Amino acid sequence: MEKSIYVTQSSMPDFEEYVSEIRQIWDSHILTNMGKLHNELEQKLRKYLSVKGIMLYTNGHMALEAALQVMGFPAGGEVITTPFTFASTTHAIVRSGLRPVFCDIKEDDLTMDPDQIERLITEHTVAIVPVHVYGNVCNVREIERIAKKHNLKVIYDAAHAFGEQYEGRGVGSFGDASIFSFHATKVFNTIEGGAVTFHDPELKNRLYEIKNFGLSKEGFPETVGGNAKMNEFQAAMGICNLRHVEEEIAKRKNVVEHYRAFLEDIDGLTLVRPQDGVKTNYAYLPVLIDEKKAGITRDELCNRLNAHNIYPRKYFYPLTSSFPCYKDKVRETNTPVASWATERILALPLYADLDSDSVDAICSIILASIPSKKVYLYEPESLFI
Ligand SMILES: *Cc1c(COP(=O)(O)O)cnc(C)c1O
Repeated sequence: MEKSIYVTQSSMPDFEEYVSEIRQIWDSHILTNMGKLHNELEQKLRKYLSVKGIMLYTNGHMALEAALQVMGFPAGGEVITTPFTFASTTHAIVRSGLRPVFCDIKEDDLTMDPDQIERLITEHTVAIVPVHVYGNVCNVREIERIAKKHNLKVIYDAAHAFGEQYEGRGVGSFGDASIFSFHATKVFNTIEGGAVTFHDPELKNRLYEIKNFGLSKEGFPETVGGNAKMNEFQAAMGICNLRHVEEEIAKRKNVVEHYRAFLEDIDGLTLVRPQDGVKTNYAYLPVLIDEKKAGITRDELCNRLNAHNIYPRKYFYPLTSSFPCYKDKVRETNTPVASWATERILALPLYADLDSDSVDAICSIILASIPSKKVYLYEPESLFI
């Protein structure tokens, strides 16, 4: 391809729409510190996500650290989590003075396997931090049952699950808290941004203080806090993007269906399927490549696409449990399914404005790379330089 295609491309409103939203900042001279736009976005998101409580942050990572801090866990407490996630999840746990204990995932939707949780629980376990990976909702019922039985908190990393509904409820309403990311690469963005959603109103003031130097709304020092406030320019981007998010998700859906038409039922290629009962957001298009059947490894396929200026992402590879910074520092656990998935997974380019010619081209290269499937939709020479 002449033009490079990356795994994602940020959704943006029209320039004029953003400018008209930020014009008021020049009147108020209020750039940050929970201004008018921040508060407006907070209310709109509370409604859109169907959650009782919400607190905005400057990014999803700091939201996760705040959600962990607000629970007041003892230092060194163990947190059962998944190694098949973005670096942020594990780093947030460790940076909060807690110890990650890695639980395996399920083969079908790649979320935490509830059947593996209980054997990891010790007297030091304080919480479970599962991830709704690619927007696949974890087995929230079973996780809740286990957490109740052992008196553990549950904090979901819902960075991939913006706007999703499960059993008619906002996905952020499950567990004790959930965190969302509004990073530029996510389905909904505030450039950088994030939120904690929760239902216990008792958490609200402390969640506020943690992002504001520990200071209460009245300005008193109440707790040990940092600085993780969302500013007015971020909020303005969010207000604009929220107006169009349904449209963006509908466009993503079309792209996914286009891919599916080509890539479904190919031996050796598994598209991670959307789940029943979930209103999905089409955040990612992960495929698993089985070398034995496809005749090509994930890395080889990735290189082939790269040679055509197409840049899918090995997301998530490697497992966070194998990061050098955690060598000899985490409890060894066995996560064979996560190890299997991380060697095979490839997230294909997916964003609202990915045009159908590009999807055709990407699929042609993939199909042509699988020896049993020499299907050329176009003469490759005429299409690729
Ligand atoms: C993006 C992401 C985060 C971090 O969010 P930021 O807003 O980028 O800080 C955390 N967890 C997962 C699973 C993510 O994909």
